[in-house]
Amino acid sequence: MSRVYNFSAGPAVLPEEVLKEAAAEMLDYNGTGMSVMEMSHRSRAFEEIIETAEQDLRELMGIPGNYKVLFLQGGAHQQFAAVPMNLMKNRVGDYIITGQWAKKAWKEAQMYGKANAVASSEDKTFSYIPDCSDLPIDADADYVYICENNTIYGTKYHTLPNTKGKLLVSDVSSCFLSEPMDVTKYGLVYGGVQKNIGPAGVVIVIIREDLLTDEVLPGTPTILRYKVQADACSLYNTPPCYGIYICGLVFKWLKKQGGLAAMKEINERKAALLYDYLDNNTLFKGTVAKKDRSLMNVPFITGDKELDALFIKEAEANGFVNLKGHRTVGGMRASIYNAMPEEGVAKLVEFMKKFEAAHKGQEG
Ligand SMILES: *Cc1c(COP(=O)(O)O)cnc(C)c1O
Repeated sequence: MSRVYNFSAGPAVLPEEVLKEAAAEMLDYNGTGMSVMEMSHRSRAFEEIIETAEQDLRELMGIPGNYKVLFLQGGAHQQFAAVPMNLMKNRVGDYIITGQWAKKAWKEAQMYGKANAVASSEDKTFSYIPDCSDLPIDADADYVYICENNTIYGTKYHTLPNTKGKLLVSDVSSCFLSEPMDVTKYGLVYGGVQKNIGPAGVVIVIIREDLLTDEVLPGTPTILRYKVQADACSLYNTPPCYGIYICGLVFKWLKKQGGLAAMKEINERKAALLYDYLDNNTLFKGTVAKKDRSLMNVPFITGDKELDALFIKEAEANGFVNLKGHRTVGGMRASIYNAMPEEGVAKLVEFMKKFEAAHKGQEG
């Protein structure tokens, strides 16, 4: 068996320890004589899995008692629709456009009401986070929507926007559990788990209890109503059982690492290895405003498309895979989520140094 260093943006690397644990429990989960994939979602064994997962997530994030945690399906894209359907009382949402995912959410919301783009960084290919200290927030806005870490472009909000008292809704798919966050600052936080937590197929929604109401937009499918899901403890229909189980194992792994404060330290150290090198070499450069850099997704270029392609090819031959940048930006992107070991980033930087030495003076 040989594992690679997988820098994929998602689905992405998972902790090896967790994969081994899942493998060991594959045929007989905890004396049940069956795999978690084979058991009823109404069984005692699965109830315990989902309840423990929720409890561990609450502990990790410090989620207050007045927030519900939902384990749902449909990915982030389904939330692009579920958010306006459930939260648009005045049919107004303010969106901050910091990348493709925020833009897609904004476009989706236009089907349900007035979705305002109150700020955007599209003028510079989303390479920065706009100043959000004094935005033209609509007096009737039901919420202000952000994508907190921009997976494709490698930017992150290091200060939350001033929503002028409006509810904050955040897509945290690609920074979920990478550092502590104050849930009380949000009305709703959600994320697909396939970036930093588990396998594709699960999306976690954390929603303040007072937002759970039956007054949703007409035509909102039952399955998309947060209150229905909350009342049923995420078991309104068959949930993505196996994915939830893996998330639960990852939560336990995170607790063992020391929780989110410890993860933040590790992630800062890991990202610094790469950013310091990018800032101090002659071939590669980062593409993002320094103050807005993400700890999770690090895009970079040489300035020469052919050299970029050669780097990606040679990196892959050396066991560093999925370094190709998103098709809309090109170049390279290293996603260095929680489960990417520090050693993986250190070795990537070593490899980049060798490539730099071999191609000095060829940069564009
Ligand atoms: C990947 C990603 C999405 C899309 O997720 P799906 O599960 O494919 O719908 C949305 N937002 C962010 C921030 C992402 O990283």
